[in-house]
Amino acid sequence: RASRKIAGQRPDLQLSFEFFPPKTDAMEERFWDSIHKLAPLQPRFVSVTYGAGGSTRERTLRMVSSVKRDTGVDAAAHLTCVGATRDEVDAVVRGYAEAGINRIVALRGDPPEGVGQPFTPHPEGYQNAADLVAGIRRIGDFDISVAAYPEKHPQSADWQTDIDNLKRKLDAGASRAITQMFFSNADYLRYVERARAAGIDAPIVPGIQPIHSFKQISNFASRCGASIPDWLAERFAGLDEDPETHALVASAVAAEQVVELLDEGVTEFHIYTMNRSNLALALARILGRRPD
Ligand code: FAD
Repeated sequence: RASRKIAGQRPDLQLSFEFFPPKTDAMEERFWDSIHKLAPLQPRFVSVTYGAGGSTRERTLRMVSSVKRDTGVDAAAHLTCVGATRDEVDAVVRGYAEAGINRIVALRGDPPEGVGQPFTPHPEGYQNAADLVAGIRRIGDFDISVAAYPEKHPQSADWQTDIDNLKRKLDAGASRAITQMFFSNADYLRYVERARAAGIDAPIVPGIQPIHSFKQISNFASRCGASIPDWLAERFAGLDEDPETHALVASAVAAEQVVELLDEGVTEFHIYTMNRSNLALALARILGRRPD
């Protein structure tokens, strides 16, 4: 079994960790504590999200440049085009380049009314993520990642529309897709099959969401169209007041998910850290990666 290989026997393993820009001093302390614990795992990159509609524009840039400068780990900045003109977005891209950031996770973003509400592009803005990728490419030589949805984006009318949209983003110049969180590996594997059948050969990296808080994650999942299987809800039922058992169950669930994917031949993983290091560290170990 692939999951029983030991460190060093899996040179093709690639990890990336996603963070969000902290809002307060206390959150910033946790951000750095986690970065310093995860950086020695030699991730391919650490990414920092871009708050809804660009609300964290300065903070994203500041955090992503400090991560690269302070740890030497490659950093990727997320970027959305919702609610902004092309010129505004292009200025952010140039700012990333000036700060030495050459990896971008390019996204459409969601309207301010909320995730799942109809999207209308800014009249002078990029139309969607594919258009944004093409715009970034015109500015410079960036490594671009885009989003993929193993359960279909809620606004894709059908699978064909969804996969065509992914293909447009990759054809426009992205080099990999990172998936939305999912809890049924069968959904991910079927999605990869659909993409391959449509001629997509770029990596489709599973986005793994360790469940730090079942309540929080299930709320977020329902807003972004990721389903919570009954068996998963059952495992966390009644654990709101029992953080210790909750944490043990969360690490077992995430471990089971990555081990199954490893055994299916998956070698690249993107971990949504929520700026915490404990479950991400455990998962990295289970995947055979220890701090260097
Ligand atoms: P697209 O690929 O452009 O499109 C998604 C869907 O919308 C498709 O079904 C497409 O057909 C449809 N669509 C596209 N354009 C139009 C249009 N003009 N009119 C109508 N329908 C259209 N959000 C943030 O705000 N900040 C982040 O940092 C962030 N990081 C993310 C990282 C990952 C790995 C993932 C998976 C998501 C992230 N998101 C982030 C969320 C993302 O912005 C939303 O999921 C958004 O709804 C879709 O973005 P997209 O890039 O997938 O859009």
